[in-house]
Amino acid sequence: MALLEVEDLVVQFYAEDGVVRAVDGLSYEIERGETLGIVGESGAGKSVASLSLLRLIDGPGEIVEGEIRFKGRNVLECTDEALRDLRGNEIAMVFQDAGAALNPVYTVGEQIAEAVRAHRDVTDAAARERAIDLLERVGIPDAERRYSDYPHEFSGGMQQRAVIAMALSCDPDLLVCDEPTTGLDVTIEAQILELLEDLAAEFETAIQLVTHDLGVVAERCDRVLVMYAGRAVERATVEELYYDPKHPYTVGLMASIPRIGDDRDRLPAIPGTMPDLVQVPTGCRFHPRCPYAEEVCTLRDPALLDAETGVDAADADPDAHLAACHEYTGDLEAGLDYAVTVRGDDE
Ligand code: SF4
Repeated sequence: MALLEVEDLVVQFYAEDGVVRAVDGLSYEIERGETLGIVGESGAGKSVASLSLLRLIDGPGEIVEGEIRFKGRNVLECTDEALRDLRGNEIAMVFQDAGAALNPVYTVGEQIAEAVRAHRDVTDAAARERAIDLLERVGIPDAERRYSDYPHEFSGGMQQRAVIAMALSCDPDLLVCDEPTTGLDVTIEAQILELLEDLAAEFETAIQLVTHDLGVVAERCDRVLVMYAGRAVERATVEELYYDPKHPYTVGLMASIPRIGDDRDRLPAIPGTMPDLVQVPTGCRFHPRCPYAEEVCTLRDPALLDAETGVDAADADPDAHLAACHEYTGDLEAGLDYAVTVRGDDE
């Protein structure tokens, strides 16, 4: 049994102009100790999917279908008490804006100690000791002294380290990181990501890493899920995804990454924008932006399949390379030819 199993998840928001299906039939799983990257442009549904794991979707949104099983237990059926226990104790979250996650009127150390006390029956002294230990582990120098600093006395990178320390305070089995390094400079970003990787290995914590940055995924993840317009369009191991992307959307994302020795003047961007989720395109949701779209793509929604065997995603091996494109359902007559797009030398 996987640590986390998400099955046919549907999350809706009720807007003035209609119902937005921000996540629409999403299924994936995370094994113990693995790092799964979830990538896609803004509006793909990555963050909504992450918030759903702990039922943190507020009105006007709601989870309307699906199952989220954590260690076999359906999170969507948990009592409030069980949910409280799950939050922080077994699944912890690290968000993009560390400053907002810290309360400005308490010291950083007190907030970490409070997180320890919330889930463990320990004395104040033990909670303080654990907080200092965690600050040390996430690389805060002079942790004992910095325990008494307020958040504004920490730099952005240190605040994010403190939030990670808080998230790890109760040894969660799953850490959900939503764009944890956005807004930090590249050196700090690399340090934070390395820290997450080291801590995950040390604490044997699985990580769901949500990002729009495929470069980050390449370095830090075991497997990758690519989302587009609320759906999974590709899933593979990192090596497979980078050396042999199957879905035209993934190919478009990859083509826009700068590479060492790149002599292109301009990086190619995927034409167009993410569709309005109140009125999603018929057939394949990516068809208005896809250079390979044929008539069938406008009519029929491609299922997520094992691209090699054609086996449905639900029955495929966890490491199988899945893609939702008519190339793999057998309905695309012309076939795909990616070489030109990936190299970007089609002019
Ligand atoms: S199904 Fe058609 S439109 Fe969709 S990604 Fe494949 S080729 Fe492009």
